[in-house]
Amino acid sequence: MKFIAGVVFLFFGSLQAYSQRVCGTVMQSAEVATNTLTVTNEVGRDTVPNEVINIPVVVHVIFNTAVQNISDDQIISQIKVLNEDYRLKNATAANIPSAFKSFAADTRLNFCLAKVDPTGHQTTGIIRKYTTVPYFTDESMKYSMQGGDDAWDCKKYLNIWVCYIFGRSLGFATMPGGPADKDGVVINFDVFGNTGNVRTEFNMGRTATHEIGHWLGLKHLWGDEDCGSDGVDDTPRQRFANYYCPSFPHATSCSPNSDGDMFMDFMDFTDDACMSMFTQGQKMKMRSLFAKNGLRNSFLNSFACDASLATAGPLPQDTSKATAGPVNNVHKESSGIKVFPNPASSIINITSDENVILNGQPLLIYSATGKVVMKQTLQASSAKVDVSSLAPGMYILQVGQSSTRKICKFVKL
Ligand SMILES: [Zn+2]
Repeated sequence: MKFIAGVVFLFFGSLQAYSQRVCGTVMQSAEVATNTLTVTNEVGRDTVPNEVINIPVVVHVIFNTAVQNISDDQIISQIKVLNEDYRLKNATAANIPSAFKSFAADTRLNFCLAKVDPTGHQTTGIIRKYTTVPYFTDESMKYSMQGGDDAWDCKKYLNIWVCYIFGRSLGFATMPGGPADKDGVVINFDVFGNTGNVRTEFNMGRTATHEIGHWLGLKHLWGDEDCGSDGVDDTPRQRFANYYCPSFPHATSCSPNSDGDMFMDFMDFTDDACMSMFTQGQKMKMRSLFAKNGLRNSFLNSFACDASLATAGPLPQDTSKATAGPVNNVHKESSGIKVFPNPASSIINITSDENVILNGQPLLIYSATGKVVMKQTLQASSAKVDVSSLAPGMYILQVGQSSTRKICKFVKL
């Protein structure tokens, strides 16, 4: 793992001086191949030809600074881009050269921000979490205990972590069949969506379109080898990655004919504005994962896009340090509470930052499934609470009520 991570980030670092696409997925998938396959398939129904398949998404925003705490609008813009790109409804599709137009496909894959969380509670599908990690050099963003946020059930949700990746790399993905706790895609905060603070060349949300293509089993067009194959019949062979924005046709000695490379395909390395399509063959390859015995077949039984199926109200979110960001939060008047030690085995101390008055406030502790496991009224400006009776695990601590409440997660050892 360490050796591979070193390779990844050397690669990222060596290219960061250029404004060209860099994708970390090649090395990541090499790592997956050495791991035990833990995402297994359960026998389910088969797909109905051309049915629209819904993919619930949870976006874990892991931020250390205000600019990394991207807005709800930026996140929603990314979901819109995914649905335009995967449904061939994007405006740039008009630029596909006529030689390739007939290959372009509506994949009939639909993405939504999850409306129901793994415990049945309502959710926005957006998790915000402050981290002390200034930038990530490995996959720590996928683990709560390492300054990130744990994956939701990858059989029912596409996990997207948005954070600051070292070296200004754009993102990376896991291929199908990898370890469940790592399954999903990681995208740098400034190439996610098409609004807010996004880098010029990558300001149309195509990094996530590309990385989710990997999550759905697609390879780069050149198969990561000189004139290699991506295993898809209707994408022409090409020598290597295309960068920036080539002119049509771009042919090499590797090209099957004078039409050359399909550089406007999402699985090339061109700039966002120059990408427009998946092919019919890529569509078939992606959708085969959802068929009976496919590695993502379980999504046919995921109904988290349907808000009416929530069985309980939303769980409170962790608002510690949430004031660092430009998000639509109602806690700007104060910065919140501190809980320590965390993790804790017996006594936790609760103190307030700045002007939060604890004395007289109700304290509620929820289990990870949203059940109230402790309730009391705080009697002082800093409080000690005995949590030794709680079972080991993650808990959500709430001080105060309604819009003035302060939320913090802690771990009981
Ligand atoms: Zn890639």
